[in-house]
Amino acid sequence: WAINRRCLEAGIGWINGGTNEWHGEVARYDATGGACYECTMTDQMFARMHGRFSCGFRIAGATDVPMASTSSLSSVIAGIQVSEALQVVMGTGAGASPGFDPHLRPGQRLTVQLRPYRMHVDDLPWSDTCLAHPGGPPEAPVRVDRPWEVTTAVDVLEAARAIDPGVDCLAIGFELVTEIACHACGTHKDVLLRRTHTTLQAMTCPGCDAPFSFATNWFIHAGTPLALRPLREIGLPRHEWVRAYRSTSPDAPGILMELGGSDPLTN
Ligand SMILES: [Zn+2]
Ligand SMILES: [Zn+2]
Repeated sequence: WAINRRCLEAGIGWINGGTNEWHGEVARYDATGGACYECTMTDQMFARMHGRFSCGFRIAGATDVPMASTSSLSSVIAGIQVSEALQVVMGTGAGASPGFDPHLRPGQRLTVQLRPYRMHVDDLPWSDTCLAHPGGPPEAPVRVDRPWEVTTAVDVLEAARAIDPGVDCLAIGFELVTEIACHACGTHKDVLLRRTHTTLQAMTCPGCDAPFSFATNWFIHAGTPLALRPLREIGLPRHEWVRAYRSTSPDAPGILMELGGSDPLTN
């Protein structure tokens, strides 16, 4: 889901692949046309995506049946994905090499079945209610002209103020745990952990075996100590996109910013 959104925003194509016991599929998605991945998502898939669970609990109840198809089918699907990606890279756009044409058009899917053996291609349905492509040109992020290693929220906000002088907070795109505390023994720690990446063990006081209470943030506000820490310390990778907002109007679209945009090695 996230890859699809990012690729649409950036205007680049991608090749999805997936398998289950006896069938696999490869689909090509491209901002230039055809259905996108999110167009094909069912209510069930959205429910699964938004489900929250503790480590280990999700697999309870799932039976572990050995399947002779896993490695062979994955290899076939991965091989077709690579082949299709090469065809797209070599065979489309300026300077396309003759002999390289993607076999799948944007929005098409190849299904491979092992029982019985069968391969077929279909056009995925475009959805009018899909929220991934509400229209308009893709938004280009504003690059923060500073090495990623040392870029802080303050730096990003400063760059964003060239466009909107009123921005004062940064949406990091995930919930960050910044403090944990145990009321039983008085333990208190400053931490920087993604909420979704915390384990039950990390969130339990080792002395008292009681759950820590904790504070979290979705935003980093200018003027807070967190705004002065390099963003890589909270796990934001090089070239990550974040949004700068006015804290008084969090529903406004904000300004899309890219970290470490001046890095000569990766541009
Ligand atoms: Zn869509
Ligand atoms: Zn304790």
